[in-house]
Amino acid sequence: MKKVYLETFGCQMNVSDSERVASVLESDGFEITQNEATADVILFNTCSVRERAEHKLYTRVGQIRNSEREKPVIGVLGCVAQLEGETLFSKSKGIDFVLGTKAVGRISKIVNKVFEGEENISDLGEREEFYNWSVSPTQQHSPFVSFVPIIEGCNKFCTYCIVPFSRGREKSLPADLIIAEVQRLKDSGIREVHLIGQNVNSYRPKSDQGMEKFNGATPFSRLLRAVAATGIDRIKFTTSFPRDFHEDIVDAINEFENLCNWVHLPVQSGSNRILKLMRRGHTIDSYLRKIDKIKSSARDISLTTDIIIGFPGETVEDFEDTVKLYEYCKYDTAYIFKYSPRPGTPAFEMSDDVSPGEKTRRFLELEKVQKPLLRDSLNKCVGKILEVLVEKESVKISSELSGHSTCHKVVNFSGDKELLGKIVNVKITESKSNTLFGEIV
Ligand code: SF4
Repeated sequence: MKKVYLETFGCQMNVSDSERVASVLESDGFEITQNEATADVILFNTCSVRERAEHKLYTRVGQIRNSEREKPVIGVLGCVAQLEGETLFSKSKGIDFVLGTKAVGRISKIVNKVFEGEENISDLGEREEFYNWSVSPTQQHSPFVSFVPIIEGCNKFCTYCIVPFSRGREKSLPADLIIAEVQRLKDSGIREVHLIGQNVNSYRPKSDQGMEKFNGATPFSRLLRAVAATGIDRIKFTTSFPRDFHEDIVDAINEFENLCNWVHLPVQSGSNRILKLMRRGHTIDSYLRKIDKIKSSARDISLTTDIIIGFPGETVEDFEDTVKLYEYCKYDTAYIFKYSPRPGTPAFEMSDDVSPGEKTRRFLELEKVQKPLLRDSLNKCVGKILEVLVEKESVKISSELSGHSTCHKVVNFSGDKELLGKIVNVKITESKSNTLFGEIV
């Protein structure tokens, strides 16, 4: 039995794709191993959103190529594979095949072809019609939490982003398929599903089969209600696109307790001028109307975002607008990135005119705003009782368990590992750095 080692870079879509790749390989007779040294096949599921992630691929292939070990088959999957195609064979010697983002269902066929002696194979083709997207229980990233893709690709073409080129146009999965999958996961013991996609709230299936019974302002809010009606314990969803974020999503969260009280709504900049250059399709006013609706919920919805610092043309005033926006929204936390140009995007043609030093200065200034707000958002949980899904034993202390609250905060507490997979009430006693600590009540 050939052994396959799979390494994943990037976002949860990639983690989710890797689960499917491993499931396909496993059902075709390969063994998935965590031991790279003894693997016959090494696969890299790649990310091209940032330059660093792409370089990591070349470094890793070089490490294997220069090691003493017998050369394994090396395959590149994901966004870098889709964008670079056959050029990868000359860019990084030692790669045997590249497989695009939609071709993952054909992974076993390609690996077998390499073992039969075929060289430099590239498949960047479309998804097969009957692609089995269920993940085998042995290949899930967690025994209690599952990713369920609901929409693939992106039509938004933000000027800095490579995703529409690497993942193609938006394609929504049929609602009845999604609901059946959530039901299957629930029946198999999964406690929490994450509905995932580049823009989940742009969900537009061809038919409303599966959601007919549910009223809602948008297909996504109807889908949320239909998924909630399966009775699965917890539902989270990421990522939301501000322009398509309808207030009815908040109404759905208010109606169904199993829709978790966490919204990730990337704003990217607090300046209308920069948002226009980024081609985000929303303004600060329209964004803030959505934030106000989220904040008005009695569910105390946790709010997180993504921000890019130093986009081409960003002046000190534009940056100060981002600081003001952050202070107004009081995000629970944010992923803050320094802008780096990606070849193939419209922004790559713009002058990257904010110096690296100035990007760092702005980054640190925004971090100074972020840290106390993160602290406040954790401190306000102290004394409260939060529902926590017990996901794993803590990495640092063996008697400690770790999980997430419904508002997606990490909570550590003492307990027996028999509690793994259960949802428990934890009284929060302390907060340290990014984590809450408490005791079971
Ligand atoms: S919405 Fe914009 S940032 Fe998000 S994936 Fe699409 S193009 Fe990229």
